[in-house]
Order: sequence, then C-alpha cells, then structure tokens
Amino acid sequence: MISNFAWGGKTPDITTHAEKTGWIETGRAQEAEQLCHNFEKKFPSKVKCRSYGKTPEKRNLMYMVVGNPASPVVWVQAGIHAGEIDGKDAVFLLLKEILEKKRTSGLLKGLCLVFVPIVNLDGHERFGAYNRPNQIGPKEMGWRTTSQNINLNRDFLKVDSSEMRDLLTLWHKVDPVLSLDLHVTDGAQFQPEVGLIIHPKKSFGDSNLHEAGSRFEDEIISKLKDLKHLALPFYPSFENNVDPKTGFSVHVSTPRFAHGYWYNNNRLGVLVETHSWKDYATRVKNQHDVVMAALEIAQRDALSWKKYAQELDRESLAGKSVPLSYKHNDKFRLIEFPGYKYSVEKSNISGADVIKYDPSLPEIWKVPFYEELRPVLTVVAPAEGYYLQPADAELILPKLVAHGVIYSQIKQSHAREVEVFHAIKAQFSVGSFEGHQNLVVEGEWKKENVEIPAHTIFIPINQPKGRLLLQMFEPLSLDSFLWWGFFNRSFERKEYMEDYVAEDIAVEMLKNPLVKEEFFAKLKDDKEFAKSPEKRFEFFYRKHSSWDVRFNRYPVFRK
Ligand SMILES: [Zn+2]
Repeated sequence: MISNFAWGGKTPDITTHAEKTGWIETGRAQEAEQLCHNFEKKFPSKVKCRSYGKTPEKRNLMYMVVGNPASPVVWVQAGIHAGEIDGKDAVFLLLKEILEKKRTSGLLKGLCLVFVPIVNLDGHERFGAYNRPNQIGPKEMGWRTTSQNINLNRDFLKVDSSEMRDLLTLWHKVDPVLSLDLHVTDGAQFQPEVGLIIHPKKSFGDSNLHEAGSRFEDEIISKLKDLKHLALPFYPSFENNVDPKTGFSVHVSTPRFAHGYWYNNNRLGVLVETHSWKDYATRVKNQHDVVMAALEIAQRDALSWKKYAQELDRESLAGKSVPLSYKHNDKFRLIEFPGYKYSVEKSNISGADVIKYDPSLPEIWKVPFYEELRPVLTVVAPAEGYYLQPADAELILPKLVAHGVIYSQIKQSHAREVEVFHAIKAQFSVGSFEGHQNLVVEGEWKKENVEIPAHTIFIPINQPKGRLLLQMFEPLSLDSFLWWGFFNRSFERKEYMEDYVAEDIAVEMLKNPLVKEEFFAKLKDDKEFAKSPEKRFEFFYRKHSSWDVRFNRYPVFRK
C-alpha cells in the first residue's frame, strides 16, 4: 500500500499522516523519509535530513539533526519495535511545534536533537492490522522484528544486524549526553500511561552520572504529573506475570538493550514505554510530552551530564571490582498503584487462571515495590586488557569497530604469562535465542604461559568503553560474546581416542602409583563415574599428551 501522504503545494508539508487522520492511522516509511526532507526544505538553517545506512531490503535509514551540531546532543529513536510507533508521530509533531515556534518554542536552545524516526525500517513496512494484538491503534502498524527476524532491541551488544552496526556508528559519532528509546508495552491493564526506565541511577552506583540519573527521574516524573500524566519510574510488569498482588520491581538492563547499552557507555539512557491499552492519540501525546520534558531538563543540565559522562570515560577500571548485573533484594515498600478492578477466573480454554480487568472501575492496588538492588555478578577487571585471537578477529573485530573500541594489533608472536579461562562446566542452551545457541560456563581465570600469536588483537581496559568491554569479554557476563555463542566451537570436542587405544594407554598409565590411587579412589567414591565406560576412559585421556588443551578453553585471554 502506498502512503496517503499528500505532497504538493508550495510550502513543504510537515504534518504527519497520523495527525491528518486524527491519530487513527500512521504513515509508511516513504512518508517518514519525505517528512525528513520536508523539514529540511522548510527550515534549512536548522534541520539536516540524512541517511545513515541501508537496510537488508535496501531501504534508506533516515535521521534528522535539529539545532547546532556543536551543542550537546539529545538522541531520540523510535520504532525499534516498529509496531510500537507512537514515538515517530509524536516527535514529528513536537519538532513541528518547536520549529514553527508554537508553545514549545526555544526548547532546543543550546541543544542538538538527533532523531531517528524508524530504527526498524524493514519491520515497519511489514504493515498490518494485527501485528500488535494487545494494542489500541494505529489502524495498521509495522512488525516487531527486522526482515531477518532480528529483535533490534536485543542486538545492541552483539551487533548481528547491519541496521544495528549503522545505528551504533552514528550514535558513537554524535555522542549524545542523553538518549531516549520510545516503545509501547503490553501486559496488564492499569491506569498509568507511561513508564520511564532511566539508567544509570543512584540505586546502582554513586558516580555523578548516577546521581544525575536519579535527579532526572524525579524531575521528569514531576513534570509529567504537572502535564496530567500518570507516569511510572519503573517497567510496569508484575513480579509474577499473572498476579498483580506480587507488585513491581526495578531492574538494571544488560547492554543488549538500548538503555542498558547507553549506560554501559557512561551515558544517560531512557527506555520510554507507553501503555498499549491507551489509544493512539493518548500514546502519541504521552511520547510528545516525555520528549518535551526531557528536552526542558536537558537544556539546563546537558553540559553537566557531559562532564559527568567524561569523568566516567576517564575512570580507570584496571584491577577494580565492577558489578555487571544486579537483582533486587527481598526488601519492599507498599505502594498505591492505580489499577482497575479485576477478577481471577478459571479459563475454560486453557484450564488455568485468567485475569479479567474492568477498566470502567478504577481502584488502588496496594502492592509491594522492590527498589533496592544488589549486585549478582561482580568481576575484577583485568590490569591491562584482553587478547583476542587472530582466528576470532574476523567475526568479532567489526563489532568492536561499531562500538568505537580502541585496540591494537600485536606485531610479533611471543610467549607471555596471561590469565586463561578454562570452563569446568559448559552448558549449551537447548533452544535458539535470537538465532544463537547460548552458552553458560563455570570456571575462573588462572595464570598460564601461552603463546600470543602475531596479529592478536589487544584491547586495553583503560578506555572510555572499559565497562562495555567487561560486559562483552568477561565469560560470566550475562551478555558476553561467549554467552551469545560466538565461541561455542571452543567448547566442542573435536578429537577422540579409540577405546582399544585408550585401553592400552590406561593399562600403561596405571603403572604410575599416583594415577592408580586416584583412579581407584574415584571408582569407589563416584558412582556415576564407575558406571560410565566413557568417563573412565576420559580419566586417562585427559592425562595423556594427546588431550586437546584448547578444549573448553575460552579463546580470549586477559592480563
Ligand atoms: Zn518495544
């Protein structure tokens, strides 16, 4: 279907199809591209419309730069989940108001806004009326994932898609002090209209930027209240999905998500989630007011945010204990949450309990809110950095380039004492997640002498991306390249010894009294071992020179 967008007349049209239809429909990709150009035509001294890449289906990825690019940058992206498209129409509306100097004039004074109207552009063009069954409007909308079926809001760290590679390249180039990612959440039915999940904040750190995040949260929630919006400073999903009484908690997102990624780059990030059960006009208004309020605060605070971000960029993480993931503890306070009357009924369809909400009957739920966080994974950063094998560089290096990571190449091979991680347990996931078979390992770094081959990539820890490097290279990190399965081959056995060969070798090795003692003790103490011919053979194989020392050895070293 071609957009209804009307192009004509002398003045470039900067009103969205959504606004023209009274917020019933949203326009297509072609409209967003045209609007981008029209804004530039109408306000050539203030707006630049540019492309930052092409999608796999060869569509132009567009972005707008509004204001003086030398000023601190606020980044706003919409449509990373293309069905959740309020943000696109909301920011176009806000920009029209700002540039036409309506009530929000002057909002961009001292700031530069970089706006990506549709991050998932191919997904946006998989257009249909039933792409978001839990959402009221627009009439038709795009699809959650890309043409390659990648969820871009899980792709920030692993960078599988060209869309993400190009988005990150642009993001690092403009280096925003504040970034907003505009979504719509499904889930339960309740009164609040929008959730703002801000990273970082005081509950998980004490830097100036963490403090600034908390102040920003307080202020934007209060501004939205003044604008008569019910806004929440957390993601409104119940602790137990099917039971509102279980309440809510705060989370710290890993860098696979936009706001988790921005935080791990020492920058303020906000996940904005309007509520799918509000109609399109209401949701667009919410997104509009969130971005407007954010810009108002940024006008005053952007320069100090920049300073705080740079303080973290300069911080040396070498040898320090750094928490990488958090969970809330058991402490909670009761909050009054504006919900609706609901009943729990036995479903004749599923046989399980099902919640029925009655939006005509508002009621206050007194529910627990868990807001105290504790680190669940803390790592000690390497003193110098990581060594990436030349054999893995082809796959991993383009990701490091997209992340703006500083690295160098080792010229001559040499022996060196480094830290090596041998997994004592390696568990592959049964299913596939985002096209990956995930790997969870147990083990620890130990000093070892190894050969560092020429062309090894050395990545120093003391650089602005230090925190991000820990997330990607520490094997226990919940979002590490290892966890995503990029090194699975190193955890597969590739060579075997025939049993009749192992038999002879074992007999020979048992002549060593120490081996003999260990073997018979294990036979006695370990029933599983005693029962398994494979394990009994492996006992000897592991002690033999033919055993593959690289099996279960993480191919990234550190020093
Ligand atoms: Zn979303």
